[in-house]
Amino acid sequence: MPELPEVETVVRTLKQAVKDCKIVQVDIYWNNIIVGDIQVFKSSLIGQSFRRFKRRGKYIIFELDDCSLLSHLRMEGKYFIKDCTDKKEKHEHVIFTLDNGKTLRYHDTRKFGKMEVIPKSKDYVQLKNLGVEPLSHKLNETYVSNYIKNTKQCMKQLLLDQSFIAGIGNIYADEILFRMKVHPKKIAKELTPQEIIDLVYYTKHVLKGAIRAGGTTIRSYTSSLGITGRFQLKLKVHMRKNEPCYLCKEKIVKEVVAQRGTYYCPRCQSL
Ligand SMILES: [Zn+2]
Repeated sequence: MPELPEVETVVRTLKQAVKDCKIVQVDIYWNNIIVGDIQVFKSSLIGQSFRRFKRRGKYIIFELDDCSLLSHLRMEGKYFIKDCTDKKEKHEHVIFTLDNGKTLRYHDTRKFGKMEVIPKSKDYVQLKNLGVEPLSHKLNETYVSNYIKNTKQCMKQLLLDQSFIAGIGNIYADEILFRMKVHPKKIAKELTPQEIIDLVYYTKHVLKGAIRAGGTTIRSYTSSLGITGRFQLKLKVHMRKNEPCYLCKEKIVKEVVAQRGTYYCPRCQSL
């Protein structure tokens, strides 16, 4: 599943590829991807140009002249830029034809992704309950200590909680906990002052590193222009079941925590 670094990479790549391009046609092949009325979706977008590209948590926000297009990739969503004349592939469900002869294609093997047009005057209700952006100054020690006072969550749940920090998913939650040397089942409320400092530091550190590397690729994830697999080798714990820990050589364990397959080192991250 694309997490913050992958979504950020998609946003940056699309900005370079389609900024100021005008949408001349919209073809939808799987209606459930669109939230709201299909005809309104099409008519709102045709004639509009992509102006600004933003990200909030794992949401992509395309700002056009008179509205915004909000897109969430969920499990497997990705974008491709192709020529108009390229054959439509099986999993391409929404195709935007642009005025430069190119098409922006939304590809989703699982069909869980969502797109919605938001009129300019309206707020993004979808984004209302999202927690702080991890790379902003709002993620700091004070914020974390106040938040954990009121939660019963364990650490893995906390990091996956989008109303705490927006944009972290299963992969980076494991990577952050490994660097903090904190067990995924540790009760968040019991973090020490030093562990709170580490949480803030390593969250930013891990996510920045992944953005720099162009997003992680696991299984089918491809960023918009077919960039694949560059960061995978740098994962220190996720997907390393039974392999030796890079710090202590103990075998990495995989266990279900917070309903997600969770990888950790039982020695470095003891409870
Ligand atoms: Zn270890």
